[in-house]
Amino acid sequence: MTSIFDDPSAFADEALDGFVAANRQYVARVDGGVVRSTEMTPGQVALVVGGGSGHYPAFAGLVGAGLAAASACGNMFASPAAGQVYRVAKSVQTGGGVLLCYGNYGGDVLHFGQAQQRLNAEGIETRTVVVTDDIASAPTDQQDKRRGIAGDLTVFKISGAGAEAGLTLDDVERLAIKANSRTRSLGVAFDGCTLPGAAEPLFTVPKGRMSLGLGIHGEPGISEHEMPTASELAELLVSRLLADKPEEAGTRVVPIVNGLGTVKYEELFLLFGRIEKLLIAAGLEIVEPECGELVTSLDMSGLSLTLLWLDDELEAYWSAPADTPAYRKGNLTRRADRNPKQLTEVVAGTEQGTAAAIRLGQLATAALETVRAVIIEHEDSLGKLDAIAGDGDHGIGMRRGADAAADAGEAAAGTGVRNILTRAGDTWSERAGGTSGALWGTALIATGNALGNKEIYDESDAAAAVSAFVAAITELGKAEPGDKTMVDALVPFADVFTAEIGRGAPVERALTVAASVAMIAADHTAELNPKKGRARPLAEKSLGHPDPGAVSFGLIVQGLADTFAPLAAEEGE
Ligand code: ADP
Ligand code: MG
Repeated sequence: MTSIFDDPSAFADEALDGFVAANRQYVARVDGGVVRSTEMTPGQVALVVGGGSGHYPAFAGLVGAGLAAASACGNMFASPAAGQVYRVAKSVQTGGGVLLCYGNYGGDVLHFGQAQQRLNAEGIETRTVVVTDDIASAPTDQQDKRRGIAGDLTVFKISGAGAEAGLTLDDVERLAIKANSRTRSLGVAFDGCTLPGAAEPLFTVPKGRMSLGLGIHGEPGISEHEMPTASELAELLVSRLLADKPEEAGTRVVPIVNGLGTVKYEELFLLFGRIEKLLIAAGLEIVEPECGELVTSLDMSGLSLTLLWLDDELEAYWSAPADTPAYRKGNLTRRADRNPKQLTEVVAGTEQGTAAAIRLGQLATAALETVRAVIIEHEDSLGKLDAIAGDGDHGIGMRRGADAAADAGEAAAGTGVRNILTRAGDTWSERAGGTSGALWGTALIATGNALGNKEIYDESDAAAAVSAFVAAITELGKAEPGDKTMVDALVPFADVFTAEIGRGAPVERALTVAASVAMIAADHTAELNPKKGRARPLAEKSLGHPDPGAVSFGLIVQGLADTFAPLAAEEGE
């Protein structure tokens, strides 16, 4: 049980506030997470880690000299929103670029990915390495599909040490990729964990049984076993990991025995002793091991074994000093405290829009209002459509996103179009949750950036804005036409829009023609089999029904055409 709280829904935030209060010499709170409270060297790569809360010391406990520069912290077991990642990274970077590093989970990939696009668009060079150490989550030949568990620590530690040593972004990224490719973990669970305020555990393991490879949020494991003895458990973990040894593994290895929440340290130590003997018997040399709680899952009963296969370069960075709330090694000279003003000043700031950008901004605010009205009208039917083969949340998700975006647009009224769309996109993805929220959020921001803050706008800017909208969604979601997603309505829309503008049509005419094409294309997705997104496991069920994201996109552009084409016609008279 997680039993100490006032308001369960505020648990993650309030725990983080208290963590910062207890560790002020290391960390400072910023909107979206924590950053080092001590100075960084200008030009040093900023390693930004993060993920859902509930995994302490991951991720906030690993922020400090020689390790992470900052951590973006989401709600309990939920990815931080893209805007949070963006703000955290922006407030900590010092000109040397940003490496985003986190465990491979769908929500995190989308939100960190969106933040990366945004940082790069602003000229803050940002790269990503996702941690994929859990051998239970996909076969050896599909390492990129594996989840990240306790291997987070090795990848963070090594890339953080590289950043501290002043390596370039290229080199820090290369180190992280190498550390990840040489890290393997396998976990076991004896029982599930309970979120604060929840009546039932998130998942359970039958009494007296052990689940091999069960994920830290209850993702399905490989097999279930009778509760083994310590020796049997050590044998099982070691043999499975040795069977999955990376190529050119060498003989020097860092073993990490990680407790997931309620296994006592004494039990972990006992197991570590058994594991050490087995590794030595296998001809391996043990280097600076770890045994304790490093990546947990609230009060989950379980543990994992990680092996990091060293080479000389990795060994040097693994051994380098680090000084963070939860992870300390060697000696580091303490840095001066950071000026707290520095942290708050970075992100705020509203751009002074040109007259043309402000006029376009008014149009954007009105368009967001139309989007909200369209979504409210169709919220129920979109939800029902998503329930056929998805999880039924498309209506409510779009509603939350569109609502928040329209409010944000209104609040920023009178400023330039880039500012309005950036704020709208930010809140959309933050409030909506879900895949479509991340996609719409990123697309609005990209559209705002494409429009920029210019003195004069013409038809070609509209075409560029539409292209940026499409590019952002396909880059982030990686869906292709035919996968049965919103892309199937988006691409025909953009093609027709661009063609119409190309042949000299005014924007509202291009919008009207393209919107009717999008509606037809959305209907046609009924004939497709889904390949991306949550609907995949229920593929057959969706045959004969259009894709919800494609339908909502069609309805939105149709609504925009219906609202703006008559207005333009009036103006033209
Ligand atoms: P979730 O799938 O997280 O429940 P929603 O239900 O709000 O999110 O949105 C589902 C819609 O998102 C799908 O109908 C599809 O159009 C769109 N979608 C899902 N994955 C992708 C992707 N990778 N690329 C583009 N669109 C996607
Ligand atoms: Mg859904």
